Amino acid sequence: MPDFTAHRHPALSVRCPECGKPVGVWCRDPATGQLVDDLHPPRQAAADLAFLAQHGHLASVENTPHGWQINPQGRARD
Ligand SMILES: [Zn+2]
Repeated sequence: MPDFTAHRHPALSVRCPECGKPVGVWCRDPATGQLVDDLHPPRQAAADLAFLAQHGHLASVENTPHGWQINPQGRARD
């Protein structure tokens, strides 16, 4: 299962469907080979789906002073 807190961005926990970079490796522009500023949107979408399947619709992943952490109730509303 992907570990959404293990990398410097949660979406790095899945392979990129657009440029093919594996888990943990930042996206590159396939045409230029340069690192992209923002991870490819299909990768972020894939990570969102995987996160939802793994942690449920109430959870969120949050950037804290101690690194990324899963909040099981991060999207809960009272
Ligand atoms: Zn990519």
